[in-house]
Amino acid sequence: MERYDYIVVGAGSAGCILAERLSRGGQFQVLLLEAGGSDSSPWVSVPIGYARLHGDPGCTWQYWTEDDPGLDNRRARWPRGRLVGGSGSINAMVYCRGLPGDFEDWAAAAGPEWGWEKVKSVYDRLETRVSANGETEGDGPICVQDVSDRVHPLCRSWFEAAHELGLPVSKNCNGPLPEGATVYRINTRNGRRCSSAKAYLKPALGRSNLTLFKRSPVRRILFDGRKTVGVELVSGQKFSAQRDVILSAGAIGSPQILQVSGVGPGAVLQKAGLPIVFENANVGGHLQDHLAISYTLRTTRPTLNDALRPLLGQALAALEYAWSRKGPLSLSVNQCGGFLRSEQHLPRADQQLYFNPISYRFREAGGRVRTEIDPFSGVSLCSQPARPTSRGRIEIRSADPLQHPEIRPNSLATEEDRTSAVAGIRLLKRLLDTSAIRAVTQDTPPSGLAALADDDEMLDDFRMRASTVFHPTCTCRMGRDETTSVVDSRLKVHGLSGLRVVDASTFPNITSGNTNAPTMMLALRASDLILNDHARMRQTIPEPAE
Ligand SMILES: Cc1cc2nc3c(=O)[nH]c(=O)nc-3n(C[C@H](O)[C@H](O)[C@H](O)COP(=O)(O)OP(=O)(O)OC[C@H]3O[C@@H](n4cnc5c(N)ncnc54)[C@H](O)[C@@H]3O)c2cc1C
Repeated sequence: MERYDYIVVGAGSAGCILAERLSRGGQFQVLLLEAGGSDSSPWVSVPIGYARLHGDPGCTWQYWTEDDPGLDNRRARWPRGRLVGGSGSINAMVYCRGLPGDFEDWAAAAGPEWGWEKVKSVYDRLETRVSANGETEGDGPICVQDVSDRVHPLCRSWFEAAHELGLPVSKNCNGPLPEGATVYRINTRNGRRCSSAKAYLKPALGRSNLTLFKRSPVRRILFDGRKTVGVELVSGQKFSAQRDVILSAGAIGSPQILQVSGVGPGAVLQKAGLPIVFENANVGGHLQDHLAISYTLRTTRPTLNDALRPLLGQALAALEYAWSRKGPLSLSVNQCGGFLRSEQHLPRADQQLYFNPISYRFREAGGRVRTEIDPFSGVSLCSQPARPTSRGRIEIRSADPLQHPEIRPNSLATEEDRTSAVAGIRLLKRLLDTSAIRAVTQDTPPSGLAALADDDEMLDDFRMRASTVFHPTCTCRMGRDETTSVVDSRLKVHGLSGLRVVDASTFPNITSGNTNAPTMMLALRASDLILNDHARMRQTIPEPAE
């Protein structure tokens, strides 16, 4: 069996950061195992490539949820990245730290080291922030770009509408005043995706003490009693870990690996015929995700639909991108929006909104899901309840690590979530009614949003059409209380030694915004904790003789 100090399972947003940090300095032998292939496709680097990637089974896990009673019994597609960089290589690159209050809740669950003041300083180390005129602040590997000078001209109407309603404007949703209408910052460098794979892993791959094995799905964790000793691949190959095995396989992959390895709810493991290594009912539980509802508004002015649907427009955009790394191909589809309160009296923003100068739909053809731009000028207006309280679960169906698990999102299970869904749509209706939006949109045919008469119709519409924005979290949640969580505040799995989970699954609760930035922050903080634990151990335990 090949021996390593640390084995990281999953080269996603979190795993790439851990691999770089743990191999820095050359002290430890680090193995990074990734089920998927490389991230060298140009579609990964070109930001608009997002539209192609998330439906491509060649580089994604195409998971499906079970029928979701809260969403009119619909099943939803939940793509996750299956390549180096993980979902961070296929995502829409909107970069949101989350609101300070989110991390006060993390601190309540997991301890003060996860409070806003602590995590803010970790974000500062993660990022280089680049202003619209190219000035930089910070020197972290992840480049966070202000694109406010490049967004579509129609985005002006978004800010005018917010102004008309007296809503705040935020220059930077990651800054000191995060609430308000804003232009989203994106993690790109010189017009290319700046994922943790590109920014952390790639420069470290030349190190002799870091090994990356691609196309190497992990079957299970190997234990000696309650001590973690290594991992086994689906191919049967085994590796031993002298220090820690760290699961970074994402909010679906990590609880699945734990469960097929005998760590999870007793009944689930028994049903799958697995011997129980450690029973913990929380593994796969507490699942949280963001749901959004989108309304297409036909416009009287050209939008990105007009620029990017015709072949000639695509060729011109490609030329502009090749020449200057600018233009629509260098941007996310999500350009404007912001964190807003649906009612003034609320203590914090309860909605994340999007105003995208493009409208499209997903269509399935030939085994892949394609994004089709609408054949008319249009924009999308979306609301996303920021802090859902419903909790779902993920459970294996069998001991087969390649069989997709059961995903039960349990959407809209709480009264709070149903109220918030309606409150978001009400806010969109108020925005639709502003003279700024009316001036650029057509009345006929009326948008679905205008037609909604009351709260019942709004909730029905949300149930029938809202969809995931691909942010599953919390399925191996962190907490001080062993009876309600999976890992402790140092990301160690309760009840077992030598095993940690570090990825979006360990959020105690979902953050208000998009989940990639908090996942990368969590991984950077976790790497500090792991290295500190090692340094502390060295002070108390002499190094074993060779
Ligand atoms: C389509 C899409 C759009 C998104 N848009 C945004 C956005 O605009 N902004 C934002 O902030 N967030 C966005 N997100 C969410 C964000 O990308 C994720 O929250 C984040 O990437 C999660 O990181 P992670 O490390 O937990 O998991 P991942 O990045 O998914 O990494 C998990 C890795 O583990 C690997 N793996 C899984 N199982 C195994 C196994 N058995 N053996 C070996 N390897 C395994 C996977 O292949 C993958 O590479 C989006 C996500 C998607 C899917």
